[in-house]
Amino acid sequence: MHEPPFVRDRAANERLEAWECGSCGYVTIPERREVCKRCGEYPDWNEVQLAERGTVQSYVVQQRLPDEFETPLPVAVVDIPQQGGGEPARVYGLFTETNPDDVEIGMEAEADFRTMFDIDGLPVNSFKFKRPRGDRL
Ligand SMILES: [Zn+2]
Repeated sequence: MHEPPFVRDRAANERLEAWECGSCGYVTIPERREVCKRCGEYPDWNEVQLAERGTVQSYVVQQRLPDEFETPLPVAVVDIPQQGGGEPARVYGLFTETNPDDVEIGMEAEADFRTMFDIDGLPVNSFKFKRPRGDRL
């Protein structure tokens, strides 16, 4: 039996909420883990709010994906700053509404954390990015 990787309530899923390690400042989303992946401590986690835009650090253009996705589709690693300062969250997600030729390292990406599809009726959430509106090449 398989289970969705991210199960939270809907309200929490669709906000850009993340968790900051009280020991080293590492930011994780969407799950708060017991042990910090970076420093190995059992820290206090502070709930933080992420900005709506991040910066593309790296990307690939996927040519083959499951049928529910249109290809070619850019998939990117994006650093999203915290609204109150501190380290950005580094996240991974699909681009949408964006020509693959328009994606480049260093560009701004508008971030959305939303339901991608269901597994056995349970929502699976992930990041989607798009080129910010009004930002033409
Ligand atoms: Zn840490």
